[in-house]
Amino acid sequence: MGLKVAKFGGSSVADAIQLMKIKEIIEADDEMRYVVVSAPGKRFSGDTKITDLLYLCKTHMDHNVPYDQLLQVIEDRYVAAAVSLGIDVDYEREFDIIKAAMADGTATADYLASRGEYLNAILVAKLLGYDFVDAFSMIRFNKKGKLDDAETDRLMSQELAKHENAVIPGFYGQDIDGRVKTFSRGGSDITGAVVARAVKADMYENWTDVSGFLVADPRIVPEAKPMANVSYQELRELSYMGASVLHDEAIYPVKSADIPINIRNTNRPEDPGTIISTEGDRSGNRPITGIAGSKNFTSINISKSMMSTEVGFIRRMTAILEDFGVCVEHVPSGVDTVSVIVSNREVEGKLDEILEEMERVLKPDTLEINDNISVIATVGEGMAYKPGTAARLFTALAEAEINIKMIDQGSSEINIIVGVENKDFEKAVKAIYDAFEF
Ligand code: ADP
Ligand code: ASP
Ligand code: MG
Repeated sequence: MGLKVAKFGGSSVADAIQLMKIKEIIEADDEMRYVVVSAPGKRFSGDTKITDLLYLCKTHMDHNVPYDQLLQVIEDRYVAAAVSLGIDVDYEREFDIIKAAMADGTATADYLASRGEYLNAILVAKLLGYDFVDAFSMIRFNKKGKLDDAETDRLMSQELAKHENAVIPGFYGQDIDGRVKTFSRGGSDITGAVVARAVKADMYENWTDVSGFLVADPRIVPEAKPMANVSYQELRELSYMGASVLHDEAIYPVKSADIPINIRNTNRPEDPGTIISTEGDRSGNRPITGIAGSKNFTSINISKSMMSTEVGFIRRMTAILEDFGVCVEHVPSGVDTVSVIVSNREVEGKLDEILEEMERVLKPDTLEINDNISVIATVGEGMAYKPGTAARLFTALAEAEINIKMIDQGSSEINIIVGVENKDFEKAVKAIYDAFEF
């Protein structure tokens, strides 16, 4: 018999109705022995995720604004789910512990946010009759704050071997000082991936609210279809570029252990979803795999005559960004011009200083910035062998009268990246989607 790890995202565990759906899914499949859960997410559009409410509690706490009512709203949501399901969880005691940590100031933002998945995993474990196993004792971060892969794998495989079935809270682990530390937002996907690796699963099922990885963000292209097969590399490019369905850091742990991921829809369990594996789609008749992008990047454009003959120019430019701790996304260049694209978040509050340093060190003829850039990637392993893909893409953008600010193609030739104005983002994604038939 095979072994599966199933991770259920926020909307899949948002309330008692959703929890009954996941119970049915899990009980119908004997192979699903380890379950990772997110905190309850949105129950309807306009609702607030528990994680966001917990961060808000922290903001209230830091600004000496009363937070009791807010905390009560959170507690009520868990209690309501437990009561509807007829499950007894001592939430009063659990919330007393949280309140005590908030009152004595030891409740960090990470600790508070992590309670969302912790409190939910206790409930789901009781619902399924599975053991609750806390991620805190198994997931470790190193002193740089990065996941300690080897130690996590060792502790987790050792611990989970003792449990036939277990529910594990997603999103957090322990830092080197013994405090709770979370992954970045959406991080329960990473927990699911490390659990799958630790128990040597045959499949990592990631249950969400869409029937797989869609060719484009359904909020922009509602008719976008799910892809049947995608390779790890394609998925990584798409998730990194903004296809938020799966956290991009969730790919490495399963890829390294060659465990396929199946993205499934909790609300439509009959749909097969998307399989992500080393192979991807080998049919050869798919022009591109998907389109993904994000808004709010800054392009720093530098021109200097004879730049191309100035040895070390790009190194000096990127060294400045490195000194400011800024991660560079793209560096498209011309003969005597170079641009560097960074996310707005990375340069917030330090852009003026960076530009001053660039003026001083690089002595450019011109130095301009545009902080309204969106970056869109069109990804597909078939692209490398199919001439004309780029022509189709650029024609589509031209016909939609979209001004392209930047073009970049990774050396792997599995993606073409374009930069456009933020205002053209949705229009550009739609135009690219329409240019390729699915
Ligand atoms: P969960 O809470 O289950 O982890 P997320 O909200 O993190 O779910 O991810 C699922 C959402 O990702 C979808 O509802 C959809 O709006 C969004 N999304 C963005 N791009 C894509 C895409 N290419 N395919 C599928 N979903 C996408
Ligand atoms: N609850 C966390 C978040 O909202 C983690 C997750 O859902 O994956 O980001
Ligand atoms: Mg998610």
